[in-house]
Amino acid sequence: MKTIGIDLGTANTLVYAKGRGIILREPSVVAVEAKTKNVVAVGSEAKLMLGKTPGSIVAMNPLKDGVIADFDGTAAMLSHYFKKASGTTLFSHPRVIVCIPIGVTGVERRAVEDVSLAAGAGSVGLIDEPLAAAIGAGLRVDDVRGSMIIDIGGGTTEVAVLSLGRIVQAKSLRTAGVELDEAITSYIKRKYNVLIGETTAEQVKKKIGSAHPAADRGTMEVRGRNLLSGLPAVVTLQSSEVREAMQNEVQQIVEVIRNTLESTPPELASDIYDTGIMLTGGGALLAGMDLLISRVTGIRTVVAKSPIDSVAVGIGRFIESGAEMKYIAEYKTK
Ligand code: ADP
Ligand code: MG
Repeated sequence: MKTIGIDLGTANTLVYAKGRGIILREPSVVAVEAKTKNVVAVGSEAKLMLGKTPGSIVAMNPLKDGVIADFDGTAAMLSHYFKKASGTTLFSHPRVIVCIPIGVTGVERRAVEDVSLAAGAGSVGLIDEPLAAAIGAGLRVDDVRGSMIIDIGGGTTEVAVLSLGRIVQAKSLRTAGVELDEAITSYIKRKYNVLIGETTAEQVKKKIGSAHPAADRGTMEVRGRNLLSGLPAVVTLQSSEVREAMQNEVQQIVEVIRNTLESTPPELASDIYDTGIMLTGGGALLAGMDLLISRVTGIRTVVAKSPIDSVAVGIGRFIESGAEMKYIAEYKTK
């Protein structure tokens, strides 16, 4: 039986196949026919359709804030990926290890198990995401010395303190990349009366967004629709405006980090001063995020190499070594 690991993120889904490595990275988007619910496209192909589909096709993110918002959409997406991962036309039921955010409820956890089985998994086990992220980022999680891992994804920000292979302290915030995009959209609407699409907002963030003035990044022309005239409009945005647009959300992220440090036992907190803070997830790529966190906390902060891959790399390390058994409470089977 094949074993595959899934990083089922709000923004991106990554699949790791045992013995083969990361075999796909795709946006967590699915496009279905409105009437029949038949899948038209998944991943990057479906993402291109967001906000552009004719009435007969619906393109959507089936996950929101780190949890399943649309069960059938998530199942359709996963089923497509499981088939790709099994690399054969013969139907096989893989053993699936899925990473889930720490802030989710029991009901939300069960939904992830059920959706995996519905998508064709033979059995499913769940692993806490910060553990996988930390392993993937190269932290020595089995060390007695405490370490801190921060994962800023599309829908959630997770902050965890690890020691001896366990999560000692953790906080989760349902503010992350998507909320930064929304903040940019509403800023441009308020200030310029121009409405932009979600894909455009994300491009603005990636291209000229920053979390700290020292990481300022110039200007960008942004296209949208003028809400008064209804006509297409172009706005030239400054990097500083984007920073201002996102400041509340960035502040919330910084606050949850500060709160986690404050509630960490003193011995472990002092370890973190030595070992530093590791940043993962796509949000770690926001210019100046590492700088802002290190200024606010006074702790050296580094961005993981390929931060979008950290969780999948971590699950991969587990699967290849068989160590995942240590971290999975129970398997659910069909
Ligand atoms: P998830 O695990 O929730 O699917 P990811 O870790 O894949 O999320 O990160 C996706 C988020 O990272 C998106 O909100 C995306 O806009 C954001 N992101 C990716 N690259 C950058 C960048 N260069 N600057 C800022 N944000 C980025
Ligand atoms: Mg993630």
